[in-house]
Amino acid sequence: SPVTLRRALLSVSDKTGLLDLARALHRHGVDLVSTGGTAKALREAGLPVRDVSDVTGFPEMMDGRVKTLHPLVHGGLLGRAGVDDAVMAEHGIGAIDLLVLNLYPFEQVSVNPNAPMDEIIENIDIGGPAMLRSAAKNFARVAVATDPSQYDALVAELDGNDGALSANTRFSLAVAAFNRVSQYDACISDYLSSIVEVGSNGVACRSMFPQQANGSFIKVMDLRYGENPHQQGAFYRDLWPVPGTLATFTQLQGKELSYNNLADADAAWECVRQFERPACVIVKHANPCGVAEADDNAQAYEHAYATDPTSAFGGIIAFNRTLDGATAKSILDRQFVEVLIAPDYDDAALAYAKKKANVRVLRIPHGDGRNMIDVKRVGSGLLMQSADNREVTRDELKVVTKVAPTEAQMADLLFAWRVAKYVKSNAIVYVSGSRTVGVGAGQMSRVVSAKIAALKADEAGLAVPGAVMASDAFFPFRDGIDAAAAAGIKAVIQPGGSMRDAEVIAAADEHGLAMVFTGVRHFRH
Ligand code: 5GP
Repeated sequence: SPVTLRRALLSVSDKTGLLDLARALHRHGVDLVSTGGTAKALREAGLPVRDVSDVTGFPEMMDGRVKTLHPLVHGGLLGRAGVDDAVMAEHGIGAIDLLVLNLYPFEQVSVNPNAPMDEIIENIDIGGPAMLRSAAKNFARVAVATDPSQYDALVAELDGNDGALSANTRFSLAVAAFNRVSQYDACISDYLSSIVEVGSNGVACRSMFPQQANGSFIKVMDLRYGENPHQQGAFYRDLWPVPGTLATFTQLQGKELSYNNLADADAAWECVRQFERPACVIVKHANPCGVAEADDNAQAYEHAYATDPTSAFGGIIAFNRTLDGATAKSILDRQFVEVLIAPDYDDAALAYAKKKANVRVLRIPHGDGRNMIDVKRVGSGLLMQSADNREVTRDELKVVTKVAPTEAQMADLLFAWRVAKYVKSNAIVYVSGSRTVGVGAGQMSRVVSAKIAALKADEAGLAVPGAVMASDAFFPFRDGIDAAAAAGIKAVIQPGGSMRDAEVIAAADEHGLAMVFTGVRHFRH
């Protein structure tokens, strides 16, 4: 049942929106009680407010460490209507019906790698979470706001409801408050349990992997099902999504996104966003089946599609440039598409997409962030690693054969290497003229991947002679080189580091191939 507000306790670090909310409360005849800084802000705005220290008969002390930790405060929040009335009257505890509180900015302060540990510790809020818990537990009678983004809806409900808040509102606010406390505590726990040592400047040196992995993830949506229809699924994002990553997407049109759509969209987007020139990546079952860099979107798409038209059917297609109407038309007229992804769309592209209402159209704004940590679930455990954000530059490459790659081959080798990073191991990628001509993915032996890449190139009618090859890891035997040479490959990029490197280099020399070593491996499973 609705509760008419009589008394509110306001204690906020972030004073955004505070005055408007307080004025609305005052307008509805709600008595205001506040902690030091908040009371000062209210008073300066001419609002009548009582200090918490006045209520408790205790001054705020210890630089704010103890302000509200008092039975007269917690009793006022926790007292049950119809159960605790007598005891509240006996001890002079006034009921508090609304708590407006946001916490010390621990997250913002601790994210600064140069902040001294002392300063970070001082930002661990004690009374705040305690009050949030008291108020949220007592949602039967009390409402609690934890974030300025909630104020407008609160005021609207008070205005439309004669100063009362409904049971539904109080419950959902309580859930939000417990979510907030858990995020906050997770952050404190992560910070403290990741400390390796504290330097003489008082700044903590931290490991990427805290003793307990807490991670706060926010649900973006429930999914119709998981990887298969008998599995259930949902999509969560980081509490603070990394700019430029999948989780920042907006869906502009189309059917509901599926679990597999999102997984494939991530692979397509991460692959395409690494290119500087206009590029297109087509993904099927988490593997790129066609990738091209060209002068414009249209050409990039044509080249990517030509690698493997069979697999491109029902693909996820990503661009790293604003998608134009002409390219959108040539895609949608030609093939079935599950998802289109681009940093933006022009009006013509959006208008054309509307004709295929089922096609999911995602906008992911460019940003320079990368996932820092990769996670994989294994039986009752999690494997965590720093994400594979290693980029190999041209001057890191070591020519190991008698012949060196030509300028054109060098450009293709680097392009092929970038694609190979996004192909499941064992990955073999054939490239010619900044476009894939064959992709061999996910095989248990490297030589079979090489043969598949050649077969794909052949099927698509793309002439392999003169193409280059990338391999995500070293060749354990010469057979992969022999297969590539037989298919007409002229240059190879691979990590090197095999016991049989000498044999593999000799094979390349025998066939007159150029080969470069990266010294870096890109397994992807
Ligand atoms: P103000 O700016 O009003 O002085 O302080 C507001 C902040 O104090 C809020 O972030 C609130 O969570 C926090 N706070 C309220 N009571 C206590 C307490 O007893 N101990 C500590 N450490 N923080 C409190």
